[in-house]
Amino acid sequence: MITIQGLSKQYDGHAALRDVNLDVPDGSVTAIIGPSGSGKTTLLRLLDLLEQPDAGSIVFDGAEAPATEAARLSMRRRIGIVFQNPVAFSGSVLDNVSYGLRVRGHDRRSIRESVRRALETVDLAGYESRSARTLSGGEIQRVALARTMVTEPRLLLLDEPTANLDPISTARVEELIGRVIAELQTTVVMATHDMAQGQRLADRIGVLIGGSMLQVGNPSEVFNLPSSVHVARFVGVENLLEGTVESGEAGMVNVRVGAHLVEGVSELEPGVPVIACVRPEEVVLALTQAPTSARNAFPGVITATASMGPLVRVTVDCGFPLVALVTARSAQELGLSSGAQVSASFKATGVHIVTR
Ligand code: ADP
Ligand code: MG
Repeated sequence: MITIQGLSKQYDGHAALRDVNLDVPDGSVTAIIGPSGSGKTTLLRLLDLLEQPDAGSIVFDGAEAPATEAARLSMRRRIGIVFQNPVAFSGSVLDNVSYGLRVRGHDRRSIRESVRRALETVDLAGYESRSARTLSGGEIQRVALARTMVTEPRLLLLDEPTANLDPISTARVEELIGRVIAELQTTVVMATHDMAQGQRLADRIGVLIGGSMLQVGNPSEVFNLPSSVHVARFVGVENLLEGTVESGEAGMVNVRVGAHLVEGVSELEPGVPVIACVRPEEVVLALTQAPTSARNAFPGVITATASMGPLVRVTVDCGFPLVALVTARSAQELGLSSGAQVSASFKATGVHIVTR
């Protein structure tokens, strides 16, 4: 278990991390998600004991991060980090992947065997004698993974492991990371600005925005029940309807949004200023205004459509703008295009309310 308490770090008087608290249970995979500049790399560098915090502490299995240089180095040997841009390698793939084992004094035979297994895991079997300079970006990322993996770290840190890769290499590297995690059975903390990647790979997500850890939870909690409008925006809740609680009963509230009432899940009292969060995939569009079980049904006019592969993003003016994500097929069947009159509806249970 790693316990991060009150961690703060400043650079030139500017806070990169502000009072960050986070528990990392043994064997968990935690994704730190947040936009660029939010402090993700700084947090990983502190966990890697490369830098000292200005305040707060990191406790590894009950032991404070060590004060002496020798103790720090010995602790660092149990931590593996894959940086966002793995250094331009020279030498052979074997030289690179075996590095950590050579500095740890392993013998040649066991090194070759460990390297062989690690390369197999990252789908680079037989690459030992290849010159590292001739590798593609995706291959370099995989060599970097293998290089860290052979040292069997107790804590594996991954900084934006697919940030510079094309979508196909990204899918491949993600799959291999999943494999490495399963094989090492170690504790993993990874940084990513890609919320979906966090959802795919992690069992816990910490949302770091502006240096503050705004929410920690399992992926579905963070995705469906964001704790604030900042988190909601980052996890892709496109409809953030500003309003005020008008009435409430039995865990449901009516929120006044302009001339409309939106029903959602909340215990908040009347008068509280709120934002009703509605994911675009929760919004259903229909041409008629036939009766629907959805309490939240609003007539409107389509103002824009944008094709997104198998989905179409439709913006409807209901008196407030509402974005819906529908399949390309249903968009075609319904003839959804700008100017069309529609009824937009969403379930009250799909409306998550945060205070503003
Ligand atoms: P992220 O990884 O989320 O993109 P970083 O941790 O790299 O964010 O950076 C957080 C903030 O700290 C940024 O404003 C960045 O400019 C600043 N920062 C990070 N490292 C340094 C440094 N070595 N010197 C000065 N400022 C830094
Ligand atoms: Mg970074």
